[in-house]
Amino acid sequence: MKNMKQAAGLIAAGVMVLALPATEVAGQTPAGAQTWASVAQGLEEERGNEALQRVPPFKVFDNLYYVGVGYTGSWLLTTSDGLILIEAVDQRYADQVARNIRTLGFDPNDVEYLIIGQAHADHLGAAKQFQEEFGARVGMGEADWTFMEETAAAGRLRADAPKRDLVIREGDTLTLGDTTLRFYSTPGHTPGTISYEFPVVDGGTRHTAFVFGGSAPAGGLEAAEQFMASVTRIEQMQDRMEVSVLNHAWQQMDPQFWSRVDRLQARKPGEPHPFVDNARFRAWIQESKAEATKALEAARAEPAGR
Ligand SMILES: [Zn+2]
Repeated sequence: MKNMKQAAGLIAAGVMVLALPATEVAGQTPAGAQTWASVAQGLEEERGNEALQRVPPFKVFDNLYYVGVGYTGSWLLTTSDGLILIEAVDQRYADQVARNIRTLGFDPNDVEYLIIGQAHADHLGAAKQFQEEFGARVGMGEADWTFMEETAAAGRLRADAPKRDLVIREGDTLTLGDTTLRFYSTPGHTPGTISYEFPVVDGGTRHTAFVFGGSAPAGGLEAAEQFMASVTRIEQMQDRMEVSVLNHAWQQMDPQFWSRVDRLQARKPGEPHPFVDNARFRAWIQESKAEATKALEAARAEPAGR
């Protein structure tokens, strides 16, 4: 009913702002670039370049929008009973998430949950704001809450920490309206990294989307072992994962990410959805597994106690 409330309020205010159909955001590119692909490298590397980083938000699926900035991804998942925010960008651009949600015609107050896959500062920027100002429940893996609190207490967290809230564990599900998220504990990048799957919809066709919460191992033997176990776990599910919802749209994770946006915005009716790509998902998991192998070998080669 939230959507109706929102629409009524906006009509009463004399402004008709509803979620934009895909055609109205089509063709927008960052900082006047010809294509998204042409600035892919800048989006990844020029992190202080505000004009470039504050990319226009866009619709990817009927129920999924990109609301992040260039180098750190944030996504808005719409349901029949409110919104779910996926990741909260770097502190430097924390204000951009709510702005993008409004640009798309949604209300940040309708964000019921914010899910953080890894407790690093570049995924936590807007978390405190969404918790305090917009009343969203913030969810993270149990060990990541502790990890974040310890990092903050040591003065090393370069983000405003949200208060401990939803603790997400292996096998948990979260249902909001017509949408269910299924969570997996996948430590290794951080002690409590979580990954999860949920359905996305393209013109009535459902696809399975997956968020890999942290796709590179942290240093040390324990993290390398955890990461190998996590990647092996995801590998067992890889055949049914069709869409990667990236928390960083980096070349290493998907060299095609930004050109997919170009293709999406030029897509004609009946053409396949450029983000549905199980082959790329499987390739990425194999690349991550190779990383895990390297990290394990390196960690095992270290003299004990180092
Ligand atoms: Zn990280």
